[in-house]
Amino acid sequence: MFDPLSAAQALLVRHWSLSARLERLPGENANFRASSGSGEVWVFKVATDPEGAISLEEDVSARLLDAGIPVPACIPAPDGAPFVVTEFGGKVAWARLQHFLPGRPWRELGSSPARLEAIGHTVAQVHRALEGFAENHPLARRTHRWDLAEAHRWRPETAGFESPNHRRAAERSFHLFAATARPLLPGCPRGMLHGDINDENVLMDGDRVVGLVDLGDTQAGALVQDLAIALAYALQHEGVGLNEGAHLVAGYAALRPLQPLEARVLFPLVLARLATSAAIAAHRRSRDPDHSTWFSHERSTLEALHRFAHLAPREAQEILVPTSGRPPAPPVEELQAHRRRALGPSLSLSYERPLHITEGRGAHLIAADGRPYLDLVNNVCHVGHAHPRVARAIAEQAATLNTNTRYLHGHVVRYAQRLTATLPDSLDTCFFVNSGSEANELALRLARAATGARDVLVLDGAYHGNTGNCVAMSPYKFDGPGGQGAPEWVHVAPVPDGYRGLVRGAPQEVGVEYAERFGRVLDRMGSEGRSPAAFFAEPILSCGGQLPLPPGYLEPAYARVRAAGGLCVADEVQVGFGRVGDHFWAFEEHGVVPDIVVLGKPMGNGHPMGAVVTTRGVADAFDDGMEFFSTFGGNPVSCAAGLAVLDVIEDEGLQGRALELGCHFLDGLCKLQTRHSLVGDVRGRGLFLGVELVRDRHTLEPADTEATAIVNAMREQGVLLSTDGPLHNVLKIKPPLVLERDDIDYFLWLLDAVLEGLD
Ligand code: PMP
Repeated sequence: MFDPLSAAQALLVRHWSLSARLERLPGENANFRASSGSGEVWVFKVATDPEGAISLEEDVSARLLDAGIPVPACIPAPDGAPFVVTEFGGKVAWARLQHFLPGRPWRELGSSPARLEAIGHTVAQVHRALEGFAENHPLARRTHRWDLAEAHRWRPETAGFESPNHRRAAERSFHLFAATARPLLPGCPRGMLHGDINDENVLMDGDRVVGLVDLGDTQAGALVQDLAIALAYALQHEGVGLNEGAHLVAGYAALRPLQPLEARVLFPLVLARLATSAAIAAHRRSRDPDHSTWFSHERSTLEALHRFAHLAPREAQEILVPTSGRPPAPPVEELQAHRRRALGPSLSLSYERPLHITEGRGAHLIAADGRPYLDLVNNVCHVGHAHPRVARAIAEQAATLNTNTRYLHGHVVRYAQRLTATLPDSLDTCFFVNSGSEANELALRLARAATGARDVLVLDGAYHGNTGNCVAMSPYKFDGPGGQGAPEWVHVAPVPDGYRGLVRGAPQEVGVEYAERFGRVLDRMGSEGRSPAAFFAEPILSCGGQLPLPPGYLEPAYARVRAAGGLCVADEVQVGFGRVGDHFWAFEEHGVVPDIVVLGKPMGNGHPMGAVVTTRGVADAFDDGMEFFSTFGGNPVSCAAGLAVLDVIEDEGLQGRALELGCHFLDGLCKLQTRHSLVGDVRGRGLFLGVELVRDRHTLEPADTEATAIVNAMREQGVLLSTDGPLHNVLKIKPPLVLERDDIDYFLWLLDAVLEGLD
């Protein structure tokens, strides 16, 4: 068996002609305390880790020694080399002999305020001493397993945690990191890091730092990472809370004041380090559960996670870096009361405990208290909240020109060309408005102008917008509270729902049957002497319950409408722009070409935009002398936003992402369906998914209160969902396309637990 101690001893003799007694030092690496018979002491380090960039370490060490920072100086081998490349336990190894630094590890002494201040001060001294180093060293830009900027790599390991409470705390921490620290790190001041200021690597004499060892994780990065790592260890010590931890930050800031961005990311980084430590320990436990040094901090990191992961990040920031935050937000109740007085009462607020959201980034919304929420319902911010390219395009155009379409401008022409290029050839003419409702309203006018008819067919449960005519075409509204029923010009066809509709069965079996029934509605209209101007339908019903139209339905339905003289309108307001994954437009799955396509929500990634795209023939028929003009529709700022959205979808491969992540998502939901009887149906395409909840899989009694309870429970856990469908029992899932696989796994894990509680 390989004996590291005697192997190390042999190396010392061979390369340094030194025969010494060795003793293993704490920590991850093969580090030994070497003592001679005459009382001299050294540290002998043997690194077999291929991540070790030994010459980088030595260069950093030399720079720190020059600045008077007590790092161990190396004792060259007799041939003058600072280290020897050799063999250790069958692996290539780098062996070094260093002077032994006096002092006791910070871990043994614990953390007093004065000690923490001294340590913070030392961290800042290290950063100052290494100014300009990272830019000039070829090996500085490296990563390694402990790289805090890449903490998310360890997130999947939380699945191996034994305790669900620990897993929850770690997942929350990784979530906070992903939403609020990782995206901001590139904007933080950068430099060379020690990389591992843990409590075994700092040696103290009372309150003085007398040694800083182990430069094995040195790397370039955001400077605040080092501070966060040191703080993550301080918070594992008895009697150290955030108030005490603030001394470490103060010690640092006395020499190098923190910038506002650094103050914001510090607490999330601390949690990320704790979660990473716990995740790496879980990972290693499966490989060698009895390792002598790997698990030295496991207990204390888990305890610290438990204590700190649930705190509101803004409050934590305020304690750690006083006065660095924005003035506190007004209490939610106060804002709500003002809103109630200022806005119309028919407006609702989501969730039992309404949220005050002040920021958005990627797939996350961030509340005033700093807590991040994974946004699974926002198909408007399609390419991610506050996408920098879209925001920049809007800002730059707004600072240049915003007018209307009565002037020539390149943007509107280019945008129309780009949009029509994504559609079948016949759909070659655009009209621009500012919302989905306006677009449907205009589509109705176009259809009426082109056909001379007035009537419209819609699907039961459909929603097409908030204007007078759109409400009249929306059973979701006119058959709901306050609704007046369908006007005489609107005809409702049964929703082709194979799960709980008139005809039940697998989607591929029911499409033709429902098309038949659709035809009967047209027959009845004909017998009453009415003919359709248009058939409006979403290819996947959204408000109607996240319900994809079954295959074999739309083609015959369109044929019947056209035979009766009507036009076919695809409402792509919710489902368009690559969301369904397989196709850019959801109607494409059905092998049909509409006469009119209606666009909205994701067009401007939150900038209000809507469009109608149709054939030249329909547009010409509408051109009866009355001008069509929308003051804001197609303005240069909106078009800049629209163009940027198309660019981002393309450049970031978001349609493909929707397909890949959608499959993963659907898979996970189907697994939950096998475990929880409440999950009646799972359906959707790409990242447009629905989960229909039922109390009984035979009677299909809708589990509406359960659906609401789940939505509220998930909100408390940091995930935003909502319900839909005429029976309010469908969880709707339509996140920004930039969400990550980890986000999906996190959600599925939380949902599993919430469902468990309801079963
Ligand atoms: N069509 C569909 C399918 C919709 O879901 C909506 C809005 N939810 C609209 C049209 C109306 O869009 P807007 O709210 O932008 O007017």
